[in-house]
Amino acid sequence: MGLLDKQFNNSNVIITSLDNLLNWARLSSLWQMQFGLACCAIEMMAAAASHYDFDRFGVIPRATPRQSDVMIVAGTVTLKMASRIKRLYDQMSEPRYVISMGSCSNCGGPYWEHGYHVLKGVDRVIPVDVYVPGCPPRPEALMEGLIKLQEKIRHESLVKKTA
Ligand code: SF4
Repeated sequence: MGLLDKQFNNSNVIITSLDNLLNWARLSSLWQMQFGLACCAIEMMAAAASHYDFDRFGVIPRATPRQSDVMIVAGTVTLKMASRIKRLYDQMSEPRYVISMGSCSNCGGPYWEHGYHVLKGVDRVIPVDVYVPGCPPRPEALMEGLIKLQEKIRHESLVKKTA
């Protein structure tokens, strides 16, 4: 008799919906568009380093928008960069998501009043799914934002969307 004999009787059947299966796969493998704009990007890099280890959430940086699911806008969005961000977002494949990290990206941050060169929120050029507040937000805050995004994806219905 093998060690595993009779270990799986009646308990090795999993029933789920296609939506649950697809959503679980998608939220567990969010590939991140690899770029940063200013000081918030340092915190984003810290989140990817060994102490916080974003990899364990399945978040892997990709150097091309065509292989990315999520864009983390980390830093000050100048007017010059806004059109580049929009172009990168447009090149990402659907379904795609955006996390706005930090006050600058959320609303212009310290430049909201007198920063003639700063966009007052990245949501003026691309849709944002999760806003992470702070100047800068700690890696823990970004991690919470990522978990919020995963919760959102968990409750999506891809089957209904494509039907
Ligand atoms: S929110 Fe603060 S830390 Fe982040 S890019 Fe703006 S000024 Fe820098």
